Amino acid sequence: MNLPNKSEAAYRVFHMAHKFLNEFGIHWLPVDPYEIINKQKSRWKLKYVDQVAYEIGKPEQYVLDHVMRSQDGIAMFDPATNQYDIILNNSDSIPQTRMLWTTVHEIGHIYLGHLGNERTKITSDMLSREEYEQLEFEADNFAGEVLASKWLMRQIDIIDENDIALICGISDDAALSRYKKATEDYNYVPVNVILTLHNFEEYLKSVTVCRTIDEFGGFAHYTYKNHETQKLPKPKPLFLRRPGTCPYCGQEKWLSLESNFCIACGSALKPGLQRSISCCNHINHSNAAFCEQCGNRVYRIKQGLAFEECEIL
Ligand SMILES: [Zn+2]
Ligand SMILES: [Zn+2]
Ligand SMILES: [Zn+2]
Repeated sequence: MNLPNKSEAAYRVFHMAHKFLNEFGIHWLPVDPYEIINKQKSRWKLKYVDQVAYEIGKPEQYVLDHVMRSQDGIAMFDPATNQYDIILNNSDSIPQTRMLWTTVHEIGHIYLGHLGNERTKITSDMLSREEYEQLEFEADNFAGEVLASKWLMRQIDIIDENDIALICGISDDAALSRYKKATEDYNYVPVNVILTLHNFEEYLKSVTVCRTIDEFGGFAHYTYKNHETQKLPKPKPLFLRRPGTCPYCGQEKWLSLESNFCIACGSALKPGLQRSISCCNHINHSNAAFCEQCGNRVYRIKQGLAFEECEIL
């Protein structure tokens, strides 16, 4: 095997990771590799250690020591059926963050073409040390860029590694190494990254949400408030009022005829309305300072940091 040098390999893996993100239509964080494996059902199979132990009639420890030779996971290719198995250790002692990383690492071995007729699994005893380390390096780089792409982290404006861990569902150690990558200097944005960012448009989109600051949980520091518009010294007289315009501040843009409150100055637009005591979770126009439905102050934030994908699409 001809070993490429580290930076060449890293470059290739980086591009493959973004090709993968595009091919599988990944557009939200955290990435869900189990859904991806499910989509590949005909060729990729996810199995757990207890299941494999049951299938071959051996104890789980045997599977870990002799089949996987790893405490975390393994990807295997079966030339007879042309299928890939990803076997994961799902014991309670393995944190979710670590399982997530392992799963994408194993997908990386498959997607990067590490397995085939000559190499049906990657274990340290079947390869030279250099080869083994090279393939592990590649699969780890793949997992990092898929789970916490440095370019996405830059777009989200992450503040520190804790945010990466929280947003991407990876361990603190992995998040720290991704943080270092994201804050390196780059001169240009690679083409396939532009495509990834385009796919994450909805995730990255600014929305203003009607919630109390506490309801943003760990992401409260990503919120900010749009400026409120000053009210006019006197409301416009009735004969000068036009539908869709706020008579109290003169705002003409982004108001709908159904709005209860002006999103610019917060005034009630219908007779007898009071600002509601509790927030209503309504998503307003991104420039809103107040909620058009209940009149509360709204917070602007990237949509993906405030909602799960299923709540939006
Ligand atoms: Zn590996
Ligand atoms: Zn107004
Ligand atoms: Zn509201």
